[in-house]
Amino acid sequence: VNADRHLERMVRAASAAGDQGFAGLVIAPSPDLVYLSGYDPMPLERPTLLVIRPDAEPVMLVPDLELPPAREAPVGASIELIGWSDGDDPYEAAARLLPVDGRLGVGDRLWASHVLALQAVLPGCSFTTASAVLGHLRAVKDAEELTALRAAARAADSAFEGIRERPFVGRTEAQVASDLARLLVDAGHDRADFTIVAGGPNAASPHHEAGGRTIRPGDPVVMDFGGALDGYFSDMTRTVVAGEPPPGFEEVYGVVRDAQQQGVAAARPGVAAGDVDGVAREVIRRAGYGEWFVHRTGHGIGLEVHEPPYLVRGNDQQLEPGMAFSVEPGVYLPGRFGVRIEDIVSVTSEGAESLNRSPRDLLVVT
Ligand code: ZN
Ligand code: ZN
Ligand code: ZN
Repeated sequence: VNADRHLERMVRAASAAGDQGFAGLVIAPSPDLVYLSGYDPMPLERPTLLVIRPDAEPVMLVPDLELPPAREAPVGASIELIGWSDGDDPYEAAARLLPVDGRLGVGDRLWASHVLALQAVLPGCSFTTASAVLGHLRAVKDAEELTALRAAARAADSAFEGIRERPFVGRTEAQVASDLARLLVDAGHDRADFTIVAGGPNAASPHHEAGGRTIRPGDPVVMDFGGALDGYFSDMTRTVVAGEPPPGFEEVYGVVRDAQQQGVAAARPGVAAGDVDGVAREVIRRAGYGEWFVHRTGHGIGLEVHEPPYLVRGNDQQLEPGMAFSVEPGVYLPGRFGVRIEDIVSVTSEGAESLNRSPRDLLVVT
């Protein structure tokens, strides 16, 4: 992680902000701050604020007691750090770094307490979310970021390879979920962030929390799991079946697999993100399950597990090489079962490449 890479991102953010009519961006500890500066402190009530302006050098306002770690950050030596001490008004200090009027973009993760205090000291400014500028910059990954996403995806693949070898029947969802979490870390993740394991009728709830239900013979099991590896996220879903599947399951599985495949095939530069959703949704609708595909087709991924671009109806944002996102259609039949298949893909110059390589055919577990 080098300072140049982050300085270049700050320059691009400043010029994109200017192009879009922003007088400045105010970024607090968050994935935005990590992206721009490489600095990753805890968000606290004492504000740390990176100020990016189209017409000035970047400056970071830092509580005095956190100056040492801020100086150690990738850009700590190459941008101006301004300390403030307890008893000072940090918002007045921030106001001195910002124009008195114009549009400001505040980080989407900036706490309401900070935003309201900034609004009070900058009555002439209007405020909007910085993702209007940063969302697009962060959505288009550079080669290093794609390498990190690929490593995370392959580590998730290897966790799946591990879990499918283990017994399911007679174990609870929570036991399988804790095995999955351990496998994710064993495969190189810094940590496991989520491990959805949903068996039988529980699989009809897309964000089911793994619980005490014991997996029985014939249960379909949806597993959706991921974590961060070197800061970049994995997120994959596979649906397996413990033995002989219930009536109707194989048909639904085939429909979701087709929808997933066709969604990936539809992703290429110039295509609207919402149109990829449309392609996957149409496969499911034609098979008669449209009303049971209850969520969008996918989400961007990077320093956050959900970030732009969103593959959702009405999103006319055009895909570009370097964008990375999930393609994860599903069908959820209440009281019966659910099926979801999810891969992370990245847009290439002519199509999209799946970063996950695990088989998508139905796997029977024991
Ligand atoms: Zn989800
Ligand atoms: Zn997922
Ligand atoms: Zn996802």
